[in-house]
Amino acid sequence: MMSNETVWFEQALLPDGWARDVRVTISAGRIIEVAPGTARAGDCHAIGLPGMPNLHSHAFQRAMAGLTERRSGDDTFWSWREVMYRFVERLTPDDVEAVAALAYMEMLEGGFTRVGEFHYLHHDSDGRTFGDIAEMAARIAAAADETGIGLTLLPVFYAHSGFGGQPPSHGQRRFINDIDGYARLLDGCRKAAAALPDATVGVAPHSLRAVTPEELTAVTGMKDGPVHIHIAEQVREVEDCVAWSGARPVEWLLDHAEVGRRWCLVHATHMTGDETGRLARSDAVAGLCPVTEADLGDGVFPAADYTGAYGIGSDSNVLIGAADELRLLEYAQRLSLRKRNVLEQMYERAVAGGARALGVSAGLAAGASADMVSLDASHPALIGKIGDRVTDSYVFAAGKDAIDCVWRHGRKVVSGGRHFARQAVMRRYRAMMERLL
Ligand SMILES: [Zn+2]
Repeated sequence: MMSNETVWFEQALLPDGWARDVRVTISAGRIIEVAPGTARAGDCHAIGLPGMPNLHSHAFQRAMAGLTERRSGDDTFWSWREVMYRFVERLTPDDVEAVAALAYMEMLEGGFTRVGEFHYLHHDSDGRTFGDIAEMAARIAAAADETGIGLTLLPVFYAHSGFGGQPPSHGQRRFINDIDGYARLLDGCRKAAAALPDATVGVAPHSLRAVTPEELTAVTGMKDGPVHIHIAEQVREVEDCVAWSGARPVEWLLDHAEVGRRWCLVHATHMTGDETGRLARSDAVAGLCPVTEADLGDGVFPAADYTGAYGIGSDSNVLIGAADELRLLEYAQRLSLRKRNVLEQMYERAVAGGARALGVSAGLAAGASADMVSLDASHPALIGKIGDRVTDSYVFAAGKDAIDCVWRHGRKVVSGGRHFARQAVMRRYRAMMERLL
């Protein structure tokens, strides 16, 4: 029988707000009790936060970070995508595992405790399936296992290069499946995830560009679990959707799919006021990736007008940190509206929305996985801070430098800001990058 473990915080952020002298009791990776107003006991820390879910990642793109920031003409999302296609051609399964391990380690050090891997790099470099169609998914699961991060595996269905079922391009050959192949891939993903303590599996029709309406229905009907889709990230995508269907992407999706609590609409950057209201009422989660959306020049999500659920994702992984995403989410609103303090309770809302999008229960509460972050109360930005001033100071004035320990499923995987496997993960990643570059 497993014995219980106790972690105690002077102050901790619980689902209904900040509490003092909080004892968290953990058994077999899960929180079994959260008790405020208790005496110090067990492993004692000053500040406890729920771990942040990272609802959208393409792990392999971490290896491209810093390679696409030089002006080479009229650079756009679409020219970035061409560079990404060339980069992806060379990656082997070993490479994918090495870069995913690096990204997941950095996520844990950056305050993320679970990742939604929107996984679309499926096949060998010539486009043929590996002997095991889920080989690459198994490498993602291996990287999650090695680093300890929680995994929601979202195998991507990708079949077309543009609206109306256009044939895929050569650069997309490693991503492409038909419906039968996707069903086998999904089965392989379930097996790969089964080895992890609390992994979940969803489905991810890539975008309205890459799937037909019939394929969208088939894919979302294959499984109960989360449904994630890229949508309305770029103005050109909105224009192409209108040319194809007469409707904008979010409008089309809300009209033609049963969008509800299972769904995460990733980006949803370009919406009318009507779409913004309808999305909020649908109970779907908006999957916001502020750092990547800024890096790719996507645009600014209409957060001030949006009353629905949202979470954050590190998407291209050009820079990884929960506080970085939240800070930029708010700063983009301030810059475009010329106001201050536009969003409220961002940390709490992103924990709740992110957990829902990843199909798990949220926060420091009985029944949830023990996914927790402690902050260093001696960090200059945190001295003397209590309650909401703590999250404000972490997000706006400190960032990941303030992270001390991170627990994932009850296990302390980061101490003093460093992941336990940092040396081994770095050694393998360095060897891979020295070969690739
Ligand atoms: Zn994405």
